[in-house]
Amino acid sequence: MSESSAIIEVSNLKKRYGNFYAVNGISFEVNRGEVFGLLGPNGAGKSTTMEMLVGLRKPDEGTATIAGYSLQKQNNQIKEQIGIQLQSTSLFELLTVKEIIELYASFYKKHIPIEPLIDDMILTEKKNSLVKSLSGGQKQRLAIALAIVHDPQIIFLDEPTTGLDPQARRTLWDIVLKLKEQGKTIVLSTHYMDEAHVLADRIGIMDQGKLIALDTPNNLVNNIQVESAIEFKTRIPQKSELFVPLQSVTNVVINHDFVTLYTNNLQDSLIALLELSKDQHIEFSDLNTRTSTLEDVFLHMTGRGLREE
Ligand code: ADP
Repeated sequence: MSESSAIIEVSNLKKRYGNFYAVNGISFEVNRGEVFGLLGPNGAGKSTTMEMLVGLRKPDEGTATIAGYSLQKQNNQIKEQIGIQLQSTSLFELLTVKEIIELYASFYKKHIPIEPLIDDMILTEKKNSLVKSLSGGQKQRLAIALAIVHDPQIIFLDEPTTGLDPQARRTLWDIVLKLKEQGKTIVLSTHYMDEAHVLADRIGIMDQGKLIALDTPNNLVNNIQVESAIEFKTRIPQKSELFVPLQSVTNVVINHDFVTLYTNNLQDSLIALLELSKDQHIEFSDLNTRTSTLEDVFLHMTGRGLREE
């Protein structure tokens, strides 16, 4: 096993479908014990990256080592080190929670005790219920139980909270943080910036098959030039050209009547905005200022929002 703290090393990985590169040459390292987030919009290539790393899709180019084993040559050794929860995980609907966990446990030479695992995944009350009767959040927690029953050191979670209600998402976040406390390394993909911010020690931002930034959440947000945003509604929809010349404004995004001005000097821009509104008789409401978020980082780098399809 490698001496370095990197437990996953990915070098120039590519996956092509016809002429289209779903993943187009990405390189990164994941440190032992960290939660590494892959953040990007739908279609960015997050699932394809994960599926290559867990051995489900063959890369067209590039190399990776996982827990010191070569992805190309030592797939079987890697399988023992990793746990996988993919979006496509399908569960046997007619087994009970306990039965399906016992079934998965039987696939491995050794496994962790099942009752505590059920408790940790907050499924105690559901352990004798059929899988098909579970809520979305409970199914996701069961999928994680199945991913970790053999006590892997690395866990891959592909968009684990997509489609869940806020409470179920938070329960899942707690579970991820608990797994991290136990020393697991977690690679998690998401298109929710708040999730990446809360859970990930470092985030790789993916767009169109490429990794366009990689850093801690705070550094990502602090390193973009844009420091703040001014948000307001206008009574009549306005054109962005009107706001572009305002002092210190670096970018303008208008969504119907909702205007966001990005600025590297909040005070200068606010004064200029107030003067403009007086001169041009622009009525606005719900004025709000805020510091940058990961959503802004993505917008700043790509010119598009994270949630646009
Ligand atoms: P994400 O997980 O970030 O939403 P994916 O990795 O699922 O992105 O997809 C990346 C791109 O690759 C998308 O444009 C998707 O349509 C395409 N893609 C994924 N799987 C296939 C496939 N089997 N055949 C052709 N295109 C695919």
